Amino acid sequence: MKASDLGKMVDHLGPTEKMPVFFIGHGSPMNAIEENEFVDGFRRVGETLPKPQAIICISAHWQTEGTMVTAMPRPRTIHDFGGFPRALYEVEYPAPGDPVLALETQRMISGTAVGLDYEWGLDHGAWSVLRHLYPQADVPIIEMSLDYSQPASWHYDLARELAAWRKKGVLIIGSGNMVHNLRMVAWDKMETPGYAFEWAAEAGEKMKQSILHGDHSSLIQWHSRGRAFNLAIPTPEHYLPLLYALALQEKDDSVSFFNDRYLAGSLSMTSVKISGAK
Ligand code: ZN
Repeated sequence: MKASDLGKMVDHLGPTEKMPVFFIGHGSPMNAIEENEFVDGFRRVGETLPKPQAIICISAHWQTEGTMVTAMPRPRTIHDFGGFPRALYEVEYPAPGDPVLALETQRMISGTAVGLDYEWGLDHGAWSVLRHLYPQADVPIIEMSLDYSQPASWHYDLARELAAWRKKGVLIIGSGNMVHNLRMVAWDKMETPGYAFEWAAEAGEKMKQSILHGDHSSLIQWHSRGRAFNLAIPTPEHYLPLLYALALQEKDDSVSFFNDRYLAGSLSMTSVKISGAK
């Protein structure tokens, strides 16, 4: 962008009522095309939402060295998985990007240097959910990556720097799964509703209690919470988007859960909505 374009940015996004913030358990990519209780949950939430001016999605499926934001005008739909039915690869989510929002986000953040990305696009952590929230694909969206070299507290602090966007009509969504251990999935229990291993339920329920009590520090220090947490979070990328959402919670916000179910023993779909007071 040229210096002469900067003036155009001033009125890019006007002030709005404070937008909610979400952590969404995205689960299987098949949620993009299946009909099930989780998809119903996404749709129900979508129906209650004001239409944002733009969306920032922090997805478990975009890990980079350093923090990046997508800055292309037309992000591609990335089919970042293997072995699924052809119909899933044919899904396109043609929402526009928002290069100005990307640039403004880069400037807003002082804790780290944020890079502008022109290669990525929308991975399934974003589009498999967004196509249910906003089926028209008419809300501009940027993705923000997870710097895999940084600890949980660093991510939490970074996310706090996005706070001003909530009052400019920007919907911020962290997309992951709180309990996510793919190596331990009980494939034979896929169709058993709510099936959870003991450790999965223990970690999931403790996470929810910490969220309800606003005890973010114990969620940031999950490494010190014992065996159940270590099994629930074998790698942090599906958990960290939760911390991005919680970091944006303000004193007068309320917190609620939806799609609050376990799946196949070692996964939870529990999703969090943080809403401003009315
Ligand atoms: Zn995932």
